[in-house]
Amino acid sequence: MKMTAAMSRLGTESAFEVLARATRLMQQGKNVINLGIGQPDFPTPPHIVEAAVKALRDGHHGYTPANGILALREAVAADMKRHRGVEVHPDKIVIVPGGKVTMAFAMLMFGEPGTEIMYPDPGFPIYRSMIEFTGAKAVPIALHEDKGYAFSAEEVLAQITPRTRLIIVNSPANPTGGVVPKAELDRFVAGMADHPDVAVMSDEIYARMCYDGVPHASLTAYPEIADRLILLDGWSKTYAMTGWRLGYGVWPGDLAEHATRLAINVNSCVNAPTQWAGIAALEGPQDAAEAMVAAFDERRAVIVRELNDLPGFTCPTPGGAFYAFPNITGTGKSSRQIQDELLNECGVAIISGTSFGIYGEGYVRFSYAASIEAIEEACGRIRSYLS
Ligand code: PLP
Repeated sequence: MKMTAAMSRLGTESAFEVLARATRLMQQGKNVINLGIGQPDFPTPPHIVEAAVKALRDGHHGYTPANGILALREAVAADMKRHRGVEVHPDKIVIVPGGKVTMAFAMLMFGEPGTEIMYPDPGFPIYRSMIEFTGAKAVPIALHEDKGYAFSAEEVLAQITPRTRLIIVNSPANPTGGVVPKAELDRFVAGMADHPDVAVMSDEIYARMCYDGVPHASLTAYPEIADRLILLDGWSKTYAMTGWRLGYGVWPGDLAEHATRLAINVNSCVNAPTQWAGIAALEGPQDAAEAMVAAFDERRAVIVRELNDLPGFTCPTPGGAFYAFPNITGTGKSSRQIQDELLNECGVAIISGTSFGIYGEGYVRFSYAASIEAIEEACGRIRSYLS
């Protein structure tokens, strides 16, 4: 069999590989603490589950419109108004099976040989993977620890070439927990006036997980780029719904029609009960989602304190999401070595920074979507091992 060259360019997400290795070790009877996986350790709130069960009982068993049922798109539009203060027409919203799908559709729309797409590094590994799949050149935007892992607008703008089609922004970020300050976004948007043909995809899937009273700064707040901004968001993280597969994109101009055509070709629609659950999530009580963020905030303080207490580790305080991204250069080991040794010797699953790009060397990612006891026990084991 002869497959396309594109298939050989497709990358992966190491979090799933580490999860598989951790699971194997657990099956062999080893006690493994999993701080590797990027998903809330809380169940989906019961009223959301009930809405899906009710939808099935009410007979919502068939296809839905490819861009999502209207009531859900209206609920997303209302949520956009509530949380981001922007008016969006439901026709601009396309419901997809998870945040990743909006990402893939954007790359497929803009990437092809001879073009460039810029992406954050360290960043979510699927950005680079999907860019390269399309044949476009993946141009990393280096994120620096001393800037709180926020991009430098000046550096981003300086890297734009006539071949640049799309720039990906992610704040709060995976894997760093970094948050781009509003002033940096202001500078970025001002500079984009000189590049009117370049589109922007803002991955705001962690928007509701911002700490220290700093409000989330969204790129949707800038009318100057509204005609070329794609917003990626979804339910996975906010409502502990990673396994449901539900996300949305807000598309400018006529791109929602193109995204819908991609959906018709790839997935037809998101399963109906999940869409009804999505309505319940947005329109129902928010206390469970808020309690989850409060719990993450508490754990954030614990993990930052614990990590800074490990020999050879230094860890800045992340401003958002549920990841800590400590610098481990003081251990004298590579990121991959630390990942493997901590899993095999301490039974602690974390992810090497290099899984998120070349600029991830010298760092590892800890997810603190785990109990305080688990975080303390994991750091205790690492401390004993490293000392
Ligand atoms: N964007 C970022 C930055 C993520 O970290 C993730 C998941 O880890 C996604 C998008 C994808 O989310 P989903 O599980 O809804 O596809």
